[in-house]
Amino acid sequence: MKRNFQFTLLFIGILSVIVACKNDEETEPINPQWKPADTEGQFVMNTFKSAGLGGSRDAIQKWNKSEVKYYFDKEGSNTKDLIEYASKVFSEINSLSQSPKFYETANADDADIILYSGRDTEFEKKYQLNLEGELKVGGTAFMTTGKNSNEIKKSVVWITSVFPELERKLITRHEIGHAIGLAHVSTQRSIMWDTVDIYYNPDEFTDLDKKYIQILNDKRVKSGMNFNEMIPIFQTYL
Ligand SMILES: [Zn+2]
Repeated sequence: MKRNFQFTLLFIGILSVIVACKNDEETEPINPQWKPADTEGQFVMNTFKSAGLGGSRDAIQKWNKSEVKYYFDKEGSNTKDLIEYASKVFSEINSLSQSPKFYETANADDADIILYSGRDTEFEKKYQLNLEGELKVGGTAFMTTGKNSNEIKKSVVWITSVFPELERKLITRHEIGHAIGLAHVSTQRSIMWDTVDIYYNPDEFTDLDKKYIQILNDKRVKSGMNFNEMIPIFQTYL
């Protein structure tokens, strides 16, 4: 017993040295005057204020855990198409994201993100969540965040089953964008524009959106961070 105790103390001693070194590295002062070198970088940083900091939200909304599980509810319709497409979108996100990584789960109770494809009435009945109607909207992500934080705790995504294939793909990509923490932006160059843009390539995120995902899902980024706290991250990518 005694031996084990000493071993534990030693272990903690080593651990705190590592933490102290790490803190030293991170205390590099933030320069609030910093600007990206070129106009494209400036554009990405300025529009990220809306995408990642959610405009008036003013703070990062994010999953803080390192593994987020998504689940396909198969009781709706056209779910097969949704699974095929959404899985591809999540793997694109994983290739850009340091943290979290997104994994499929076959267990609904275990899921952080639930994806449902079907009629609005079926969805409303099953999930007791009110939609604005599939003929107008086409998709919605219901986000649950921590009580006094912007940490995402749960997301329930509904995609209409009645829209044409291209629109459904773009809506799926957009709603998954919300599910990972992104808000609307005012540029058509992003999938997070609030209107379906049929000229957006459904097979890949634009370079702008790839930057948003990389910045938001850099492992240094946590929910609640403000614009100034994000500057070291912008410096890495822009
Ligand atoms: Zn939206």
